Amino acid sequence: MAKELIRLVDCRKAFDGEVVLGAINLAIRDKEFLTLLGPSGCGKTTTLRIIGGFLKPDSGSVIFDGVTINDVPPHKRRINTVFQKYALFTHLNVFENIAFGLRVQRPRLPEKEIERRVKASLELVALKGYEKRSAAQLSGGQQQRVAIARAVVNRPQVLLLDEPLGALDLKLRKDMQRELKQIQQQVGITFIYVTHDQEEALTMSDTVVVMNRGEIQQIGTPLDIYNEPGNAFVADFIGESNIIDGVMVSDNTVRMYGRNFQCLDEGFAPDEPVDVVVRPEDIDIVPVERGQITGMVTGVTFKGMQYDIIVDFQGFKWLIQTTDHFPVGARIGAKIDPDGFHIMKKSEYSGLYGDYSSYSAEYDALSAAPDERGQADA
Ligand code: ATP
Repeated sequence: MAKELIRLVDCRKAFDGEVVLGAINLAIRDKEFLTLLGPSGCGKTTTLRIIGGFLKPDSGSVIFDGVTINDVPPHKRRINTVFQKYALFTHLNVFENIAFGLRVQRPRLPEKEIERRVKASLELVALKGYEKRSAAQLSGGQQQRVAIARAVVNRPQVLLLDEPLGALDLKLRKDMQRELKQIQQQVGITFIYVTHDQEEALTMSDTVVVMNRGEIQQIGTPLDIYNEPGNAFVADFIGESNIIDGVMVSDNTVRMYGRNFQCLDEGFAPDEPVDVVVRPEDIDIVPVERGQITGMVTGVTFKGMQYDIIVDFQGFKWLIQTTDHFPVGARIGAKIDPDGFHIMKKSEYSGLYGDYSSYSAEYDALSAAPDERGQADA
């Protein structure tokens, strides 16, 4: 495993008395692709700006290669930044945009070396032959490629990327995601990437750092984060989830809807209240008589590869993904294998995040009449 390059130790930041980063701790390895992921306002950009040196933490340390760099200005850090807005010089051509940072280096680089490096970085971003084009005449995707070429041309050890694909359309965004990952592997630079797009984070990263309200919620590989979300917030934010109130009766047995289900989780206190997380793709629809629970379809949306159906289990709305079509009003049975349950300790999280809150059964449960809670026609 590559050595540690950057470490944030208890980095805290407040603006106008409001805490936006609450003493975060984070270690970043050399040459890794690490993504800060979280909803708008959670502190991703603030974290990035602290690493880049554009902001100082109120307390805590930023350590680079074993040395505390809190007081080192941005241009003296071996770190470059690519912003969402490409910030190219529109009066200069592509070559001069990329060469800009090299020309101001002291001692001066020979012109031949500048030319060699600019050409190599243009090749890296698949823009060979674009040297003479005016930056103003490029498409959004091309401008972003030039911005990346400019950021890697002086061989920084770390590249900070703040939603660099945010302004691109979906198709181009997907292509660029693949290219960026390739570029990162080719040049062997540490990438610290900021996005609020879960899929983008999961496809590109070696490590994903999920943030919410200025706190790190979980750090892990994309697979870890998706398969083993550490709390209900992560489960809800990464992909869509059904979150149900439950009670851990004993190891491997969780109780919800007044009946017991087998699961793989252990180590909870007897009768501990828990959040039960079930992914929409982990629920099998079966004939009513074979269902562990039964309910009625209340909504159907065709999504191209599958149907998203909303099923009402006695007042609790679940999202289920299936390739089969079930009409609104159909009664169905649902079956969940033991590995389809993810049991979480109860958290402060209320399930009130964006679109997914409508699928949060836990939230529905709170608004249901008391005598409806915990019951289903199982
Ligand atoms: P987004 O995805 O919307 O960019 P983010 O996760 O990057 O969000 P930050 O930009 O780090 O969030 O902002 C975190 C919080 O700090 C927000 O509430 C923001 O309004 C606030 N904030 C950021 N910069 C400043 C500043 N210079 N002055 C005052 N408040 C700020």
